[in-house]
Amino acid sequence: MNKQIKLYGAFDDYGDKLVDQYGRSRMFGGSETSNIFSPVISNMIFAKGFKPFYPNNKSFAFCLSHDIDLLYLRRPVKDRVLSLFGKSTYKSADNFNYVYGSLFKEKPYPAFSLKKLDNINKSWDINSTYYFLSLQEGEQDYNYNVNTIRDTVNLLKERKNEIGLHGGHQAYNNIEKLNQEKELFESVTGSNCVGYRNHYLRFDINSTWKILTKLKFQYDTTFGYPDCVGFKNGMCYPFHPYDFKQQAFLEIVELPLIVMDATFFFYMRLNDEQIKMIIKDLLKKVKAIGGVFTLLWHNNNISEKNLKLYNEVLEIITKEDPWISTSIDIVNWWKQQDLLTKQQSILNDIFAGQQSV
Ligand SMILES: [Zn+2]
Repeated sequence: MNKQIKLYGAFDDYGDKLVDQYGRSRMFGGSETSNIFSPVISNMIFAKGFKPFYPNNKSFAFCLSHDIDLLYLRRPVKDRVLSLFGKSTYKSADNFNYVYGSLFKEKPYPAFSLKKLDNINKSWDINSTYYFLSLQEGEQDYNYNVNTIRDTVNLLKERKNEIGLHGGHQAYNNIEKLNQEKELFESVTGSNCVGYRNHYLRFDINSTWKILTKLKFQYDTTFGYPDCVGFKNGMCYPFHPYDFKQQAFLEIVELPLIVMDATFFFYMRLNDEQIKMIIKDLLKKVKAIGGVFTLLWHNNNISEKNLKLYNEVLEIITKEDPWISTSIDIVNWWKQQDLLTKQQSILNDIFAGQQSV
């Protein structure tokens, strides 16, 4: 088996013995990922004459997305009372009206406001994609009832954003659970849900893509290492995943995730300057070959210090003049322009050859 197909198909994830406590493959568990900051497979495809193109003659694309894990603080009543007297552990984020108003009945937390987030995005002319959890009370990481987000979802849609499903801890490898979350979510949004990312980027190479295909999702955008930004399988182009069991490409489209905010904060532990440096480097590599720069930024990371960084990151990206698109629009573009089909025939040539990465 050649190196390229092993990297592209994430061969090392099968039977990975170095997964973390959430079953996720890590960057250092992959033998083919030493070049994590280079889109090595996309580079090869590009070198074979493949030239992606975008509306308005833009040279590459940018997809911004948000996983909505938190809309409420969900703090204990004792802490809410204490915070009235400035003694809360959440003191820095408190304001009197909010605290007083949520003393008995919790209200959505202003710092996590999606309207605020969308206003920031719109100041950069960005339409983005919001992935919502669809959990029931008592489930792991339950934070909000989907029935209460109807107005927010409608507002975000009116403002030309895309709405997708953020599967919970139990969904990524369980078709019944994923279907239940999808149906509950669709009963609120009133439309078919075609876009997906799993919470915690939990992903099973054997089942996630197949389950999503069966449930008629058009694309997934979970595929990235939680512990390191970059190009997990050497791709910065949307692609049809390769399945080693069937020895065939799958119908679903993967929009690979290149940068998640939490990866910088909790795993790589970089400072703001280092974060911007890495983003510039990855962006340059994506732009050079007409790829899609995907960025996940959580709505709970837009307060205070993180807001400054967020705006700086958006400035760095938009300055490069990408086609700014929601996830579904970029996937549809690649389908309609036959880019996925052309790419696949080049990949077949590469996989049949013996070149090394
Ligand atoms: Zn999440």
